[in-house]
Amino acid sequence: MRYISTRGTAPVLNFEEAMLSGLARDGGLYVPQEVPQITLTEIAALEGQPYEAIAYKIMRPFVGDVFSDLEFQGIIDRAYAGFGHAARAPLKQLDQGHFLLELFHGPTLAFKDFAMQLIGQMFQTALGRKGERVTIVGATSGDTGSAAIEAFRGLDNVDVFILYPHGRISEVQRRQMTTPAEANVHALAMDGDFDDCQARLKDMFNDFEFRDGVRLAGVNSINWGRVLAQVVYYFSSAVSVGAPHRPVSFTVPTGNFGDIFAGYIAKQMGLPIDKLVVATNQNDILHRCLSGQGYHKGETVPSISPSMDIQVSSNFERALFDSYDRDGPAIVQLMDELKAGGFEVSQGALQVLQSHYSSGRASEEETSATIIATLEKSGELLCPHSAIGVKVAEAQRQRGTPMITLATAHPAKFPVAVKAACGIHPPLPARMADLYDKDERVTRVPNDLAALKEHIKGQLNA
Ligand SMILES: *Cc1c(COP(=O)(O)O)cnc(C)c1O
Repeated sequence: MRYISTRGTAPVLNFEEAMLSGLARDGGLYVPQEVPQITLTEIAALEGQPYEAIAYKIMRPFVGDVFSDLEFQGIIDRAYAGFGHAARAPLKQLDQGHFLLELFHGPTLAFKDFAMQLIGQMFQTALGRKGERVTIVGATSGDTGSAAIEAFRGLDNVDVFILYPHGRISEVQRRQMTTPAEANVHALAMDGDFDDCQARLKDMFNDFEFRDGVRLAGVNSINWGRVLAQVVYYFSSAVSVGAPHRPVSFTVPTGNFGDIFAGYIAKQMGLPIDKLVVATNQNDILHRCLSGQGYHKGETVPSISPSMDIQVSSNFERALFDSYDRDGPAIVQLMDELKAGGFEVSQGALQVLQSHYSSGRASEEETSATIIATLEKSGELLCPHSAIGVKVAEAQRQRGTPMITLATAHPAKFPVAVKAACGIHPPLPARMADLYDKDERVTRVPNDLAALKEHIKGQLNA
C-alpha cells in the first residue's frame, strides 16, 4: 500500500512512513494511491461483530506489511481496552430513522480518542522495534491535544508538545492536558487562536532543519493514521441500521474535515452511503464553499462549540485533491491563493464535491435550542458540537434513508455551554471525577516560531 501527497512532489511512502511523518515534505497531505475495496457480502458479514474485529477487517489492507497480523490485532485491542463502553461506539435512536453514534466513551470523552489511542499504540510498536525516539508536536482547538496527551503519556519513545489557544478552550479540555504528571508531556498555552496554533505547527514542519533535528512527528488530524481509524465506525454503525442492504446517510459536526473525510473513504471502499452532511457552526467556511461561494477565510468567531472554531480546514485539501482529479499542481495553486485569503472552486470540482457532500450550519441559538429539544424528545443530553450535527441532520434527512449523526463529544466536556442551554450540569463519568482536584502544569508561549522552536529544544535537552 503506497501513499502519495496531495501536492504531487513529496516522496511516495508506505503506511508507517506516512503515519510517522504526518505532513508531507511538499506541504501536502498523504492519501492512499488506491483505496482498497470491500464487497457487499463482506460488509454484510460485519454485522454483530465486536468493534475490534470490524476495525481489523477495515484497516488491515491500508496498513500493508508494516505490522504483522498478530501485531496489528494487539494494537487494536490495546487501543480500545480503556473505553468506558463495551460497544466502543454505541448507537442510540433519537427519532424514527435518526440515530446518534456516541463516539465519546474514550478516555478524554471525544471521538478523537478513537484515532489517537490507535496511533499511540502504532507509534509505540513501530518506534520500539527500531529503537527510535520522536518529538510529537500538535496544535489543538481542545480535543486533539487532550486525546494526544492521553494516548502518549508515559510512552518510552515520544515527547509530546501540544499548542492550544490560551483562554479559548474549556476548563475540562485544559485540565485534561495540564494535569498529566508524566515528564514526556508538555502543554503550551499560545497567545492567539486555533488557526494561529495550526499555522505555527505548519511552520515547524516546513522548517526542515528543525523538523529533522528534533525528529518531528505529527498527530494532527492531517495524519493519515487518524483518518484511517475513523473509517471504522462508519462501517460498524451503518451495518447496525441496515447497510449494505439499504444506503445510509451521515451528518458530521465538522471542523478540520478529518472525521467526515473518513466517511468519504468508507464510501470509496464500497459502503453504500447516500449523503455525507457537513455540519458547521457560525464559522462556516465549509458550508459556504460547498454552497458554491468559494473558499474564503474570515475571522474566527468564538462559539459554544470551540472544537469547530476554525477557518482553514486542513483535511479539506484531501477532498479538493480528489475533486480536482488528483492534480497536485492545481492544489499547490489553490493553497497559494488561500495564503492570500481564499480561492474559487472550479465548476467541475464543485460538482464532484457536491455529489459526495452536502452541508448546513447552525447558529448559537439553534445549537442551544437543539440541546433542549433533543433532551425533551429523546432524553439524550448532547454536547454543543453534537447538537449542531443533530440540527443540520434534521433539516437534511430524507424518509426511507436512515440518518446517523455523529456525537463527537460527551456533554460533560462542555458543561458551561450545556448548563447555559438547558439548566443541567452534566457530571463527569465517575472514572475521571477527580479532574478538578489535580495540579496543573503549563507554559505560556508567544505566537512566534523562533521562540517556540527554542522552547521545544530546551525542553528536550533538559
Ligand atoms: C475535533 C472535533 C470536531 C471536528 O472534527 P474534524 O475532524 O476536525 O472535522 C467536532 N467535534 C468535536 C467535539 C471535536 O473534538
